[in-house]
Amino acid sequence: MERKISEALYSEAKNYFPGGVSSPVRAFKSVKGTPLFIKHGEGCYIWDEDDNKFTDFCCSWGPLILGHNNAPVRETIIETVSHGTSFGTPTRWENKLGQLILENNSYVDKLRFVSSGTEAVMSAVRLARGYTGKSKILKFEGCYHGHVDSLLVKAGSGLATFGVSTSAGIPDSFAKETLVLPLDSPDILDKTLEELGHDIACIIIEPVPANNGLLLQRKSFLEHLRKVCTAHNVLLIFDEVISGFRVGFEGAAGYYGIQPDIITYGKIIGGGMPVGAYASNAEIMGHVAPDGPVYQAGTLSGNPVAMAAGYATAQQLLQPDFYSNLEQKTKNFVQTIQTYCDNKNYGIHINTIGSIFWIAFSKEEITRADQIDAGSMDKFKILHGELLDRGIYLGPSGYEVGFVSAGHTEEALADAADKICTCMDIVFS
Ligand SMILES: *Cc1c(COP(=O)(O)O)cnc(C)c1O
Repeated sequence: MERKISEALYSEAKNYFPGGVSSPVRAFKSVKGTPLFIKHGEGCYIWDEDDNKFTDFCCSWGPLILGHNNAPVRETIIETVSHGTSFGTPTRWENKLGQLILENNSYVDKLRFVSSGTEAVMSAVRLARGYTGKSKILKFEGCYHGHVDSLLVKAGSGLATFGVSTSAGIPDSFAKETLVLPLDSPDILDKTLEELGHDIACIIIEPVPANNGLLLQRKSFLEHLRKVCTAHNVLLIFDEVISGFRVGFEGAAGYYGIQPDIITYGKIIGGGMPVGAYASNAEIMGHVAPDGPVYQAGTLSGNPVAMAAGYATAQQLLQPDFYSNLEQKTKNFVQTIQTYCDNKNYGIHINTIGSIFWIAFSKEEITRADQIDAGSMDKFKILHGELLDRGIYLGPSGYEVGFVSAGHTEEALADAADKICTCMDIVFS
């Protein structure tokens, strides 16, 4: 497989952009080779500049639940953009998407559109602080919430759980406002809230942690989290930028039947265009400007073209059996690979929920970030390279989950499962 044009474009890009990319993980630092430059997508397939064809399990990191170049989404975008791209005024499209979401989601009453998941999370945290008048926030190790200063933080050493930053450019004084706890650990959570609950504005969690492997949580832990947040007057934020519209139209809140205080959305909500949102009940959202004192704004927020893409996507997600079909397809795909690996006694466990899957190079069920063996990423690196050579595209890091879309046909999935099994033989040879 020739990748000469991608390679040339990548070396050119390095002259223009740090690392040659607009977002770090795209740079292929943790896998072999250089990034593919993609020029076309259709259904579950993408084509690179060298005209190689790949079955895509990255799906633009999650937004493309309908697959690439979905016809109704494309046509709605084209029709909308023919009237202009942005007005900086309210448009009918915001009402349409807002209504469609709120009428079909019993966990939120009002929302505010922004332009990315990061912006949604940043705004939700500000709202929680503004609403409660408290300053500290609490997150979990292994959850990613975008590149918000106060959330690019990991656990510090020792019993004191005050965070330390994971990026240069974040003052210690910011990081100290963030507490970091392990997932799936109710006792540590209880103790922390007993001691510091009076100072904590919110606890933020990915209810389906899917940015550091897929660290599925026990429902009882999430329920416990809900209970103790209420007891300590701490707002519970579900960061559903990945899980929202993915594990069901009502996201993880609906999947588990748990009512958070604020929910953040991104990825699928924009149907492949840059959109995020944060949502809550009417009382909490009443604190957002211009109704309330928590300021938050955006020049391109609620952009009509992006709203139209989100609307055309959401309409399709609301079709009967959309989610159960997608989940069943994903289950069959995962089961084929898991059974093959079990029969050969390969140390593989594939976690899956809805249409998300993650191949862990471990036999143990993994629920916390510290259980992931960094050494196992060498195996992923081999798998990724071998699959790429066979026309299967996984996200370029072993910590990234895979997505199955409505554009993945049974044939494409059977072919991909077959190739993944073949490559597992190579990985474990
Ligand atoms: C992707 C993601 C974000 C960040 O969204 P961007 O649109 O990349 O800024 C935040 N939280 C979660 C859970 C995500 O998966």
